Amino acid sequence: MKISLLSIGNELLSGKTLNTNSRWISKKLSSIGCVIQNHITVQDNKDSIVSGLSFCLNKDPDFLILTGGLGPTDDDITREVLFDYFQTESIFDDEYWLLLKEKYRRAGLKISKSNKNQALIPKVGEILPNSIGSARGLKFIKNNTTVFALPGVPAEMKNMVSRSIVPQISKDIEKPIFSRNIRTIGITESHIFDTVKNFTNTNSNLIGYYPSIYGVDIYISNDDRKEINILADYIYKNLGDYIYSEDETDMEEIIINKAIEQKKTLSIAESCTGGLIGDRITNVSQCSKAFKGGVVVYSNFSKINILGVDSNRIAKFGAVSKEIAIQMAENVKIKFDTSYGLSVTGIAGPTGGTKEKPVGLVYIGLASTKNTIVEKYNFGNYRESNKIKTSQAALNMIRKDLFNE
Ligand code: ATP
Repeated sequence: MKISLLSIGNELLSGKTLNTNSRWISKKLSSIGCVIQNHITVQDNKDSIVSGLSFCLNKDPDFLILTGGLGPTDDDITREVLFDYFQTESIFDDEYWLLLKEKYRRAGLKISKSNKNQALIPKVGEILPNSIGSARGLKFIKNNTTVFALPGVPAEMKNMVSRSIVPQISKDIEKPIFSRNIRTIGITESHIFDTVKNFTNTNSNLIGYYPSIYGVDIYISNDDRKEINILADYIYKNLGDYIYSEDETDMEEIIINKAIEQKKTLSIAESCTGGLIGDRITNVSQCSKAFKGGVVVYSNFSKINILGVDSNRIAKFGAVSKEIAIQMAENVKIKFDTSYGLSVTGIAGPTGGTKEKPVGLVYIGLASTKNTIVEKYNFGNYRESNKIKTSQAALNMIRKDLFNE
């Protein structure tokens, strides 16, 4: 199944907005066995949209998906250009206009006259419902290609692709593709490759290795689900300790769910991550059942006065040290009365490093009911990535403890 994507919007070309829609659609449709032929981004003016449409349609895709420019403002001209391109008259949908007015009234908003163009429907063509926004999608057929136009707002686009487009495309796919995404941490792409390569000689799976700041994802796809599962079993057998989740599930979700299941609680003392670990944990719904709170103790003053870290110890070992990470973890555990106390202290950079303690040096402490452990990392020179890598490594320490119970 061949797919073309056409993104419309000046903000995508100027760099003001990152084109996350095409990435998301590509990922979604590739995972069910479609081949994405091209992505094009064009300005929101008539000539650019028309030439983008012609370019894509000349490649004869099965589906062409457009996003952007269906809103009510002057620069939202996609609808008008499409009606013109597909030579269809427009009809004013009175019923939808009433619905739209009622929707705005209930939300306490004043509807503008310019919203009226969102009630226009093509005489030849179809409408796709939008359950979370006001701009409905459009569908046209041109030769062998089905053309969908969707709003640019990512949440609305995703909702419509999942509800309306994926079911239509899946139905037409002769050989559906299945996939599993196995997420690892603490092991390099080359080590994973070395482990997996012997096995893959006898297996028809397609395998992709995707390293990121959070670890390496192993993406396996095949039209035979059994083959995928056989390889996945082998990977679990050989790399089990490094695997933290599957699909798109993040580390924090795994931890919170497991902690809730085991009735364990958690508190955090953060220095170099500045609250990032707490932020990630509180993105997980229901986290209050396991997460009791945290403190950002960025200065020596706060480490001593808020957390009760021993000032003599800081003077002796330095704030970024194994000894302080241990005391931070143990003190936060006591103060919040939790099963786990997690601590991080490090030099995020780019300044502040010394020969003995370079930028990127991080200590992570984990106090549990059994003992207190500490791990040392050397992440590198970039402040932002140091914070993310520290948060991921810290969460991984809890994961290992929770899953090895
Ligand atoms: P609306 O009804 O909200 O006006 P629309 O179809 O007119 O929807 P746009 O006006 O093009 O959509 O974009 C709405 C918002 O979605 C903007 O903030 C825009 O930057 C964002 N957006 C548009 N296209 C994309 C894209 N490809 N990836 C990410 N965000 C996008």
